[in-house]
Amino acid sequence: MQDYQNPFEMAQAQFDEAASVLGLEPAMKDILRWPRREYSFTIPVRMDDGSVRIFHGYRVQYNDARGPNKGGIRWHPAETIDTIRALAAWMTWKCAVVDIPLGGGEGGIACNPKTLSEGEKERLARGWVRCVARELGEHRDIPGPDVYTTPQIMAWMLDEYETIVGRSHPAGFAGKPPALGGSLGRNEATARGGVYAVREACKALNVDPCGGTFAIQGFGNAGQYAALLHPEILGGGKLIAVSDTSGGIHDSAGLDPKAVVDYKRKTGRLIGFPNAKPIANEDILELDVDILYPAALENVITRENAESIKAQIVCELADGPTTPDADRILHVNGVHVIPDFLANAGGVTVSYFEQVQGLYNYYWTQDDVNRQLDRKMTEAYRVVNQLHHEHKAHMRLAAYLVAIQRVAEAVKLRGWV
Ligand code: NAD
Repeated sequence: MQDYQNPFEMAQAQFDEAASVLGLEPAMKDILRWPRREYSFTIPVRMDDGSVRIFHGYRVQYNDARGPNKGGIRWHPAETIDTIRALAAWMTWKCAVVDIPLGGGEGGIACNPKTLSEGEKERLARGWVRCVARELGEHRDIPGPDVYTTPQIMAWMLDEYETIVGRSHPAGFAGKPPALGGSLGRNEATARGGVYAVREACKALNVDPCGGTFAIQGFGNAGQYAALLHPEILGGGKLIAVSDTSGGIHDSAGLDPKAVVDYKRKTGRLIGFPNAKPIANEDILELDVDILYPAALENVITRENAESIKAQIVCELADGPTTPDADRILHVNGVHVIPDFLANAGGVTVSYFEQVQGLYNYYWTQDDVNRQLDRKMTEAYRVVNQLHHEHKAHMRLAAYLVAIQRVAEAVKLRGWV
C-alpha cells in the first residue's frame, strides 16, 4: 500500500479492502467503486471591478440506491474533481453507516473565498446553482455546506433554486439559516455527533474522558464546536492545543475553549492567544493527549507520522485525514480511530432531519434534534465497534463493512446488479 496524494484513489483503496473482505461479486464492486454521475462546469462571475472571471464548479452524484443524493459543497482553492469524487464516495458510506435513507454526493468550486467580496460570493453561489439546477431538488440531490460554505451561501443557493423552479423547496438545500427552514442544531451537528461517538468509545475502552486531555487540528466550524461540546457532553476534559491555517497554540495547563473560540471569532486567527505557546500544525497531531480531533483537511496522518501518534482515540471530524497505510499502523499500535464517515456523520444526519422537517413543514426543538442525533450516532458507533471486534478489523474497515453491505443490498434489490 502507498500513501495517497489523490483522495479518490485513497477512497477506492479503502473500498477495495472492504469489498474483498465482503467477497463482493465483480459487477457490484465495479458499480460501488465509481460515481454514477458527475458534472463539471464553468461559472462566469461578474467581479466588483467589472471584469468577468471564470470559476470551475463540480457536482458528483455517487450512488442513489438508498435515496436521493446528499452532500456538501466545498469552496477551496485546491478543489479538484478527484477530491469531490472522494467526498461523494465517503458521503455515500456515511449516510449508510448512520442508516439514513439518502445516497451520496458532493460538489465544489475551485476558488479562494477569502479573496472574494460578499457580492462576488453571492454571484458565485447563484452561478453554481444555475449550472446544475436541473439535477437538484429534495428527491434528486440535496446540497449542504462543507469547507468555506456558510448558512448565508446556502440561503443564496436556495433562493436561486426556488427562483428557477418557481416554487418553495425548503427541503432541497441543507445547512440553511433557521429563518429559511434550517434545522436548529445544524451548525454544531458535525462536532456534536463526533463527541457522542467519542463518549461511546470512552465507555467501550474504559477511558475516563473527564480527567483526560484533548487537542484539535483545524479550528473552523467542526473544530470550534468540538472544543465547546467535548467538555459539555463528556462532563470534563482539558483542551491543550488547537491549530488553524495560521498556526497552532499550546498550553499544557489547559486552554479555555470558550475564550479561544471568542478570540478566533474576533481576530480570525489563533496565534497571539494570551499565555499560549505556538505549536506547528503537524506537531499538534503528535501530542501526548487522550483524544485527538483532526478537523481540517485530508491526508494529515500518513505513514510518515502514524508511528508518532500518541492519542488513545482519534476522532476524525475532517474527511480523509488518515491514509490507508497510517490506518494499519494506528491499528497495530492500539490507537482507536473513529473513522471520518462515522465520526463526522452528525452533520449529514441533522441535514437529513432538516430535509424531513422541510418536507412536512414542521420544525423540531433543539432538544428533539440532539436526542435523535444522539440515538443515531450511538447506534452507528455500537454496530461498527461490534464488527471491529467480530472481524478483528480496524475501525475504518468495520465501518466500511457496515456501510457497503447496506448500499449493496439496495443495489441488489433494485436489480442494478
Ligand atoms: P471550515 O471551513 O469551517 O474550517 C476549516 C478549518 O481548517 C479552518 O480553521 C482552517 O483554518 C483550518 N485549516 C485548513 N487547512 C489547515 C491546515 N493545513 N492545518 C490546520 N488547519 C487547517 O470547515 P469545517 O466545516 O470545519 O470542515 C472541516 C473538516 O470537517 C473538513 O474536512 C470537512 O470536510 C469536514 N466536515 C465538515 C462538516 C460540517 O458540517 N462542517 C461535515 C462533515 C465533514
